[in-house]
Amino acid sequence: MTTTQSWVESANDAQCDFSIQNLPFGIFSDASNREARVGVAIGNQILDLSVLQAAKLLKVPGANHATFASPTLNSFIALGKAAWAATRTQITTLLQADHTTLRDDAALRSRALHKQADATLHLPVHIPGYTDFYSSEEHATNVGALFRDPNNALMPNWKEIPIGYNGRASSVVVSGTEVRRPNGQIKLPNQERPVFSACRKLDIELETGFIIGQPSKLGTPIRCENAEDHIFGMVLLNDWSARDIQAWEYVPLGPFNAKTFATTISPWIVTMAALEPFRVQQPAQAPEPLQYLRHSGSHAFDIQLEAYLKPADAAQAMRLSHTNFKYMYWTMAQQLAHHSISGCNTNIGDLMGSGTISGPTRDSLGSLLEMSLNGKSPVSLGSGYTRSFLEDGDEVTLKGWCNGDGYRVGFGSCTGKILPAIKMA
Ligand code: CA
Repeated sequence: MTTTQSWVESANDAQCDFSIQNLPFGIFSDASNREARVGVAIGNQILDLSVLQAAKLLKVPGANHATFASPTLNSFIALGKAAWAATRTQITTLLQADHTTLRDDAALRSRALHKQADATLHLPVHIPGYTDFYSSEEHATNVGALFRDPNNALMPNWKEIPIGYNGRASSVVVSGTEVRRPNGQIKLPNQERPVFSACRKLDIELETGFIIGQPSKLGTPIRCENAEDHIFGMVLLNDWSARDIQAWEYVPLGPFNAKTFATTISPWIVTMAALEPFRVQQPAQAPEPLQYLRHSGSHAFDIQLEAYLKPADAAQAMRLSHTNFKYMYWTMAQQLAHHSISGCNTNIGDLMGSGTISGPTRDSLGSLLEMSLNGKSPVSLGSGYTRSFLEDGDEVTLKGWCNGDGYRVGFGSCTGKILPAIKMA
């Protein structure tokens, strides 16, 4: 099979996340224009859609200049699925190796293409609401075995309900934003009352997230069969977690401050259209879910995922984990069907986290909590470094990609560096 090639040479590298088959959407600014605007990643470049629109090279139903000169993708996403498809088709054509309109117009090309290395990437959407699920059977089993009964690790509701909680949208940040170690209440096992302290068990959660593209009305559930129509695309997501704060506060209403200090997402939203070739069958579900959680066909996606950690004084990042999104027990469609079954509405830009993604092996775990058995068995990173939990100065990077035939559909990276806690008087 001949893979479609682009005249943007860097996009044709089989290891490049941003092939012409991908075309993820994001928000960027650079020295040529300090205003944040809509771009599409191609190779090591960004295609400026506001320039294409002004040059009348994009004909997207309902779009005007403001759609692409906007500091968020929400207006574009609101145009709907037909507009997303039209934009993707037209950009694909403009970037194909044999298409001359943009390729051979040096003046236009210099205004429309910008080096990623020179650009600042911003949070791609305004996020009205953030929900985080708990849908990896391996992760839920590992955590249940650590804190409850290894022989009865899953709670009785786990295989009936895509478990989730309402998170905090205000602290979702884009990759590259530094993350401050939180302070809070910690209950030490040998003391009667909690202490006030900087978090001592700061952790990562390797997740993906999906972005709502088609809203739903209050009181109207989304059907599982067509729930994917409501999804614009996916990102990588690190749900930073303060395990010691969480252990004390989570009874009876679930995590609160342990999860609200930061959630990092990758800057490029990979569309469901780009992910379509990587659709695979989800794991078998037993017992069969209740009717409103049933869907026919394949609803998982084969997305390779990695987590890396770079200690402040280390020469390079070291791999913590290699797993895959396809292991998830509950699908995104089931998560959305369950989220809305009560009548809860969703808005454009809402972010839904998958839950920590752990695979079946020791090198495929999505959190340090699981890797270090809650600190009992520190992880060897190589080069003499070990970790039970994150230390100040540690930089964590998530990566994700789908392997096509001679190309990748990748997510880029999702990075955050830990700053010391604020000293409270
Ligand atoms: Ca989580």
